[in-house]
Amino acid sequence: MLALPALIQIDRNKKAEVGLVDKTRAWLEKDSSDRKGIHASDLLDPRKAYYDKTQTKVPLSERLVGLFFVGKVLHAFFLSALTGEDGVNWKSDGGSTIDKTLGISYSPDWCKNGVPGELKTSRGKYEMRPSDLSLYLEQLMIYMTGEKSTYGRLVVLMTNLPAPPGQGWGTYPQYRCFDINVTKTALAEYAKQIIRVRKALVLALKTKKAKNINALPLCREFKCGKSQCPHYLVCKPEGRFGTKRWDK
Ligand code: SF4
Repeated sequence: MLALPALIQIDRNKKAEVGLVDKTRAWLEKDSSDRKGIHASDLLDPRKAYYDKTQTKVPLSERLVGLFFVGKVLHAFFLSALTGEDGVNWKSDGGSTIDKTLGISYSPDWCKNGVPGELKTSRGKYEMRPSDLSLYLEQLMIYMTGEKSTYGRLVVLMTNLPAPPGQGWGTYPQYRCFDINVTKTALAEYAKQIIRVRKALVLALKTKKAKNINALPLCREFKCGKSQCPHYLVCKPEGRFGTKRWDK
């Protein structure tokens, strides 16, 4: 260990922190391509997708800048390791496919022998249960439907998982891999659901009528609320808007 000077002044520089967030935000926003048409991710919370496509773009909050940045960097590193790249390939997925029957485009992280795979990162501190995977699976199932594969692979990189016994102290990033299997019937039902949601979103976008917008289901709870969603005051989600829990 080296001895530090007895008199060393350490001042937190908040101005520099704001500057870094601004630079990171600008980098993320420059990198986010404007997708045409309906993408798989639009179907997960179609009401938010509607407002994202029709409202003036709101700058990413500091929270989202931090979350997106780390997610994006880890994603690129993981895919580079998976494909044995020299260094880092910044391409963030395995390429986009347009499925004319489903009427959407989708971009799995990788696709091997017709089996799509997806990486997610999680800051969770506990082992995931199958019920914790539902949001990830909704997305992976779209890829499986597009590829007509009853099998899919999900990898979750858990960045804060406690070290298993005998593996040192604290937490460290650990992979959790899941093989997902469904029946052909379930896949066919999922395809119908994708088409139904896509049609409802397209109708809302075309007509911009309140009855068609409000026919889109409310988004999942963790995305909603005045502090969480930039569209809250326009959307006025029924049953949530005007209540203490969601208005704060
Ligand atoms: S306010 Fe809630 S329901 Fe409305 S778009 Fe935002 S997240 Fe979705």
